[in-house]
Amino acid sequence: MNYTLRQPLSDATPIDRLLDRLLSGADPLGPAQAHRMGHGDGDHEHGEGDPEADILAQFAEQADDLHERVVHDHGIFVAEFLGATGSGKTRLIERLIERAPDDEEIGVIVGDVAGEDDATRFRELGVSVANVNTGKECHLDPGLVEDALAELDLDALDTLYIENVGNMVCPADFPLGAQARVLVVSATEGDDVVRKHPLLFQACDGAVINKVDIADAVNADLDLMESDVSEIAPEMPTFRTSAEHGDGLDDLAGYLEERGHVHASDHEAYVAGTEHSHSHEVEHTHTHE
Ligand code: MG
Repeated sequence: MNYTLRQPLSDATPIDRLLDRLLSGADPLGPAQAHRMGHGDGDHEHGEGDPEADILAQFAEQADDLHERVVHDHGIFVAEFLGATGSGKTRLIERLIERAPDDEEIGVIVGDVAGEDDATRFRELGVSVANVNTGKECHLDPGLVEDALAELDLDALDTLYIENVGNMVCPADFPLGAQARVLVVSATEGDDVVRKHPLLFQACDGAVINKVDIADAVNADLDLMESDVSEIAPEMPTFRTSAEHGDGLDDLAGYLEERGHVHASDHEAYVAGTEHSHSHEVEHTHTHE
């Protein structure tokens, strides 16, 4: 098959690209605002002496800047959906778009390794779409999202959905500044999928167990999946859906709406939450060294 890539395939990982910027003398974060959202210079002491932790901390700060710009400067509600390829992320977002009021202006940033398949589906729903082909990268990072934002009219948007690349490992280290990070797993991934990916669950705000309509056919124990979520991330709200048939979407949509309202009235809670997840992410890196 002959694919047209929006961006050339590259071996460079996000860390390679950040190192390139550092070595070239450029500010690695662009016009980063050190004191935005209360993240002063002293806030990244966990990264001292560890270049990889430093770099991850810089990505986290870049995500905070994105958050500040999109959520606060433009007043857009941002939800990120992540999870394995085939978990149903695209279908879930489609269902949320279909049920949105006519006057809600929606944009979607679609991350996929290659191709326009998901972007085409969203365009057919009449929303604004920025397609990001990551080539050999297994996740979006704040720089890729920043580039994609240039294709969207931020003054017009009310809601921005970000669909991450299908992957259950790499996105944990790369927050994108969303008010809600929603991890989608499906019954077809095996009912042990949750316990196999604790770090990603701990890096997210909400969980969806999708394809519940075919759980019996694949012998998946949905109660086990849900109890694994409560064990790994006790505060995490979990929603059972069949995105294909539109079941279970009311609760998920209600949660997202509430998340937007809570965020608007309690920005400090968001900042505390992201600081928690930043330190968690750095710990995660250490355990693999
Ligand atoms: Mg998809």
